[in-house]
Amino acid sequence: MPITLDRRSFLAGSAGLIALHPFSLQAASNQVHLRLMETTDLHVHVFPYDYYADKPRDTVGLARTASLVKEIRAEATNALLLDNGDFLQGNPMGDYIAYERGMHDGDLHPVIAAMNAVGFDASTLGNHEFNYGLEFLMKSLAGADFPVVCSNIAKETGAGPRDDKTLLPPYVLMDRTLTDGAGQKHAIKIGLIGFVPPQVMNWDRRHLEGNVQARDILQTARAYVPEMKEKGADIIIALSHSGIGAARESEGMENASLALAGVDGIDAIMTGHSHLVFPSSKYDGLDGIDVAKGTLRGKPATMGGYWGSHLGLIDLMLERDAGGWRMVGHASEARPISKRNEDRSITALVDSNATVLAAAAQEHEETLAYVRRAVGKTDAPLHSYFALVADDPSVQIVSIAQSWYIAQMLQGTEYDGLPILSAAAPFKAGGRGGPEYFTDVPKGDVAIKNVSDLYLYPNTARAVLVTGAEVKDWLERSAGIFNQIEPGKADQLLLNPAFPSYNFDVMDGVSYQIDLSQPSKFSTNGELENPDASRITNLEYNGVPIDPEAQFIVATNNYRASGGGDFPGAKGDSIVFEGPDTNRDVIVRYIVEKGTISPRADANWHFVPLPGTSVLFDTGPKASDYASDVQGVEISAAGEGPEGFARFRIDL
Ligand code: MN
Ligand code: MG
Repeated sequence: MPITLDRRSFLAGSAGLIALHPFSLQAASNQVHLRLMETTDLHVHVFPYDYYADKPRDTVGLARTASLVKEIRAEATNALLLDNGDFLQGNPMGDYIAYERGMHDGDLHPVIAAMNAVGFDASTLGNHEFNYGLEFLMKSLAGADFPVVCSNIAKETGAGPRDDKTLLPPYVLMDRTLTDGAGQKHAIKIGLIGFVPPQVMNWDRRHLEGNVQARDILQTARAYVPEMKEKGADIIIALSHSGIGAARESEGMENASLALAGVDGIDAIMTGHSHLVFPSSKYDGLDGIDVAKGTLRGKPATMGGYWGSHLGLIDLMLERDAGGWRMVGHASEARPISKRNEDRSITALVDSNATVLAAAAQEHEETLAYVRRAVGKTDAPLHSYFALVADDPSVQIVSIAQSWYIAQMLQGTEYDGLPILSAAAPFKAGGRGGPEYFTDVPKGDVAIKNVSDLYLYPNTARAVLVTGAEVKDWLERSAGIFNQIEPGKADQLLLNPAFPSYNFDVMDGVSYQIDLSQPSKFSTNGELENPDASRITNLEYNGVPIDPEAQFIVATNNYRASGGGDFPGAKGDSIVFEGPDTNRDVIVRYIVEKGTISPRADANWHFVPLPGTSVLFDTGPKASDYASDVQGVEISAAGEGPEGFARFRIDL
């Protein structure tokens, strides 16, 4: 029984509908109102808690989203709750279960326990479900009280998708009884089909290669949707763990939801993966997208943010006639669990659901203990007091972990074998943050909660392809943080206060010196100011002057790679790898795998000597404990700086 769209009776967009009364009341005697609720990208966030900061957070948590679910179930006669994937990994609770407690036969994963408590009707897989390997995944899914579908991951592929031996059922057909506006019951067969980005084969190569294969989302959809129709699906909902993406289809696309909306037979689309909200003004004016109606190519769609921040909601009005079910109206929205006030404070809009909290309460306590106890050791203190004036261990650990990760990710690709450099900047380095605003992890035990101190932002890992000339200009851009210094003069101020420390990228994998007597090539904002200027000297790779024509991979983050800070070689067009993993996760994995880390700064960069010249800079007062350890530069105390800072002198 095909479902047809009757455009004449389409209701207005979501705004119009919400202004009316609850949808159920509008259903006529031959009509049913069906609400589809979506969570996506939960990333193990059950409690409203930030385990890195080790404090409660009102913007996250399935326990909060569950309260929205409860409200909606109370409003609607017919409702389905669906999860769109990325539930198993992404916060320290996920790491705790995977790295410490493990999933033994019969163990229930806390996020699955919480999802069981909320009462999900079905879920699909996200790319992060593969992060801990297939055995861990299957053991975790074994505890789910709901079906989990995924159509484009196969243990064995056949001639076409329909001949594949898929890892999980590609789709489910659920027989439901829906109540119409007159209270009459009607049988309906609801089809749910799942999709994951095929890029998982690269992102989790070490777990997946030789075990499973991925197929293109659109090709797989075109194969299975007709089969679902043949088997009697009255309505088909895509659980697309994929961003909204481009309108134009391309082979193997990662963000395929807009293109997927063009596949005949799909009636509604749940999206995710990109951690955004749909409908929202973020998508205003884009080809094929109608934010007011909440549609992708005319089909109702939603995306419920991430970490439980929103509940995605699609309302469908279905009408039964001799020809079967028809969709006669729809609306989409995304309901938030919190709101940001004008003063940037956060107000929770719902309370936690106690049953959901209880389902993961024990693991929550265990996770708190886990983030607070040592998971590794550092044999050097990790502090950023001198990160702007010398090679620095707190930046070094980030660089080392990034190159370690990117080397794995590029294995077997066309970039395998190119030299890998790594760029990282000190995020906490005083400045406007004040004299306490520094990274300071003492030598000895490293706890997971320390990692947020090492990597402040929720960036994701990227690799860019650059030339030797661009490497040099990247460093010239960074060196703009320094004032121009007059040789032979004492006590000149070193740092330009208008230049943020997060744009001071240090590059690991090459060695270089910075000549402070030269003007900066780039302005504070990155404009080319002195085309012939050169502060970077003796730039070498493997002890040999860098070839301006040679190619290099630079490991960095999404902010820099997509043009943040306007760095040469990183304007958004040089990205060769987009990692799904946060830089913070990369550091945690590196520490867990290595046990003891040795982020000893190797003084691969330092200032060019300028005899008879000295400069002053301000840093945190705690810096005095470490001043004598700094390699490659001669630092001495020079009294107090302004506003609680301590002043130091460097003899160049
Ligand atoms: Mn995600
Ligand atoms: Mg170094």
